[in-house]
Amino acid sequence: MKKIVVTGGSGFIGSNLVKYLLKKKYFVINIDKLSYSSNPYNTKDIALNKNYIFYRTDINNKIKVKKILHRHKPNIIFNLAAETHVDRSIDNPDSFIKSNILGVYNLLQSILTYNNKNSKKIKLIHVSTDEVYGDILTGRTDENFSYNPSSPYSASKASADHLIRSYVRTYNFPAIISNCSNNYGPNQFPEKLLPKMITNILKNKPLPVYGKGQNSREWIHVQDHCEALLLISQKGKIGESYNVGSGKNIKNIDIIKKIIKISKTKSLNKMDKVKIKFVKDRPGHDIRYALNCNKIFKKLGWKSKIPFEKGLSDTFDWYLNNKKFLSQVAEKLYINRLGLKK
Ligand code: NAD
Repeated sequence: MKKIVVTGGSGFIGSNLVKYLLKKKYFVINIDKLSYSSNPYNTKDIALNKNYIFYRTDINNKIKVKKILHRHKPNIIFNLAAETHVDRSIDNPDSFIKSNILGVYNLLQSILTYNNKNSKKIKLIHVSTDEVYGDILTGRTDENFSYNPSSPYSASKASADHLIRSYVRTYNFPAIISNCSNNYGPNQFPEKLLPKMITNILKNKPLPVYGKGQNSREWIHVQDHCEALLLISQKGKIGESYNVGSGKNIKNIDIIKKIIKISKTKSLNKMDKVKIKFVKDRPGHDIRYALNCNKIFKKLGWKSKIPFEKGLSDTFDWYLNNKKFLSQVAEKLYINRLGLKK
């Protein structure tokens, strides 16, 4: 049985990936430090699965990471452990530098040392973002597009990508990078746009929209992302990057209108306070990200499958039917407006 490490496996995408890999009959080792954005609810249904093991560990912890690698001898590591909220990176970039850059450096060094001593090598699949390309007002960015990150978050992710590429070139390191667009689906911490809007609707609260809501993002269901990641680990070429997106761009204001429309079909109790409220924009807010995903379409035969309207409605239902997810998150962690410090 193949063994796979998922770092950040208690967060949004990580927990979806862990469950997907368990379904595909892998043995999964989750390394997560359990920061504010992870939720025990995300992994409660797999906690006792005999093919799953969890280590509460920071990826910066050299000794523990080394022990885990030697104990389990995994074939692949998917690295999803990261600080992920742009607004928080504006208020305080410190933890972003530690987890997203130094954490990746520690993983690289740990894997390098392991691979030098073992004939069976570990492959690293590093999960990065479309935000590394910066603001894309027109057209779509392919993998050769230059990096131009705008926030401390995206700069920390870009730094890690560069570091990994340097290891591939210098040490012949077996790594592949994926650059994915905005994910949505179950288990996402409610400080992010979609779960925030859904949560506010469920709590009969106004819907805060940055600026005029004209910022455009490319949305992909987390399940499609998980499928792409497994395929990249199986068929992707070492040293390459793969963009992963749906080709479906939509402005924030339009997605919020869609969610309101969906919520009206769900016979909720009270919605009198559910109204769009424009709030001060975040500094340096990129207008648009858009990926060109021809490489993964053509080379690996992958395409996103979940239609946006269905995915959105299913996601709404998930938050509606999993109120315990929200009850495990302290409201003070996501209710206040962040990202305005300059
Ligand atoms: P998330 O914030 O929901 O989860 C991150 C997880 O990583 C948390 O469980 C946290 O505890 C863990 N973590 C953070 N620092 C750690 C450390 N130093 N050691 C161990 N664990 C640590 O984030 P997410 O949205 O699931 O994102 C996962 C990855 O995917 C990130 O690398 C992110 O940059 C990337 N990504 C996310 C999106 C998106 O739309 N959410 C899009 C593209 C790429």
